[in-house]
Amino acid sequence: MYRVGIGYDVHRLVKGRKLFLGGVHLPYKKGLLAHSDGDVLVHAICDALLGAAGEGDIGEHFPDASPRYKNISSLLLLKQVIKLIRRRGFSVENIDAVVIAEGPKLTPFKETICATIGRAMGISLARVNVKATTAEGLGEIGKAQAIAAQAVALLRKGK
Ligand code: MG
Repeated sequence: MYRVGIGYDVHRLVKGRKLFLGGVHLPYKKGLLAHSDGDVLVHAICDALLGAAGEGDIGEHFPDASPRYKNISSLLLLKQVIKLIRRRGFSVENIDAVVIAEGPKLTPFKETICATIGRAMGISLARVNVKATTAEGLGEIGKAQAIAAQAVALLRKGK
C-alpha cells in the first residue's frame, strides 16, 4: 500500500538569524524567523510525511508555544516524525521538494542538503530530491523577505 502526502511552509527572513535549509547552515545575510531554527524545507518534509501517514501536521506534534522546541534543530523534529511513521509500519519510498527563494543559490549545497536530510531520515541519498526556484522578484519571497518550501512524500506500508 502506498500513501502520498504534501507539505508547505514559509518563514520570514530577518537579520541576526542563521539560515538553515535542509539542516545545513548556509552563508546568507539573513535567517528565518521562527520558534525553531525556521528550516522551512525540513518543516515541509515533516508535514508531507505526517500527511502521508494520516498523522495530522507538524504544529500538532511540536507546538510552537512549547519551550522544548525553542531554537531546536528541525532535523530533530524530522527524526521524531520518522520514528512515528515507522511505528505505524511505513517506510519512505521517496521525498521530492522545492525551495522558493531569491537567495542564496542552492546549487553548490544541494548534495549536502539531500545527504543531510537522507541521514536524518535513515534513507539513501537517492530517495531525496531537492529543487530550487526563485519567485522572479514577485511578492515577499521575490523581495527576499521570506523563503518557502513545498514537499511531497511517498510512503510504503508492508513489504
Ligand atoms: Mg515552519
